[in-house]
Amino acid sequence: KVAVVGSINLDVVVRLARRPEPGETVMGQWVGRFPGGKGMNQAVAAHRSGAVTRFCGQVGADPDGTFLRDALVTAGLSDADLLSDPNLPSGTAQIAALPGGENSIVVVPGANLGLSTERAVACLENAAVVLVQMEIDPGVVAAVLAAARDRGIATVLNAAPATEVGDALLSLVDVLIVNETELADLGGLERVLRRGPTHVVVTLGGDGAYCASLDARRKDVSAFVVDVLDTTGAGDAFCGVFAASIAQNLEIDEALKRASAAGAITASAMGAQDPSLSAAAIRELIDGG
Ligand code: ADP
Repeated sequence: KVAVVGSINLDVVVRLARRPEPGETVMGQWVGRFPGGKGMNQAVAAHRSGAVTRFCGQVGADPDGTFLRDALVTAGLSDADLLSDPNLPSGTAQIAALPGGENSIVVVPGANLGLSTERAVACLENAAVVLVQMEIDPGVVAAVLAAARDRGIATVLNAAPATEVGDALLSLVDVLIVNETELADLGGLERVLRRGPTHVVVTLGGDGAYCASLDARRKDVSAFVVDVLDTTGAGDAFCGVFAASIAQNLEIDEALKRASAAGAITASAMGAQDPSLSAAAIRELIDGG
């Protein structure tokens, strides 16, 4: 079983031709509302790939929170660990989608930052793997990782968005997943490997990913060739399916392959959570590609 503790946001996507200059108003061409947040995206991907998955997060007691709760349940996950804070707004991400696939994003975390440590830790019960990101209070992330260590639960940290991750936090991580920017922010591969994680997985967008560890040869996986439509959430699908694969006792090579396939499938559809993601779709892409 995989426990995912993390953010859940309403993604408000606006398609527009160019960014407004300071003081200027521009007209957008399209607006859509999608469930998102790294935590929810990763939990939904883990679930769709076939792993028993539990998600713990927090929304506000507002219509956006209701929308997100419904979306979680519709995706097939339980909302028993989705808390509601009466004093904070649901987290939102305002996403300006520019021509050519470029994005500008403003996240207002709201209720995500009020998630209680106790409830987050309670979600670890019976888990084989816990997966966390940096879109919630770092203190909660640290407490969850420490509690997981105590209980012999494998810990996976996706150190995103790029942020300060202290040595104390890194020492609690078994598998660290980062993109190249995030890895550079953490001081590079050698430094990170000396701080605790036994495996560091680096995603390279359209160039695939690799897994490095101190005691084994580096393992590479190429990206699968798909018609790319919207890469939002590709990294989240990768993380969710990698953690799910570890929980299913698959080897690192196979976990990398399945995660890369999930990233490619998500990049070929609009939105951060692709309903066509499934264990069968992942298998088909791997066997055919
Ligand atoms: P992030 O968005 O977190 O920076 P990446 O862009 O590195 O994450 O993407 C995560 C993974 O998704 C990649 O390692 C790759 O497997 C897959 N992926 C991303 N972009 C593409 C693409 N254009 N074609 C195929 N696979 C992709």
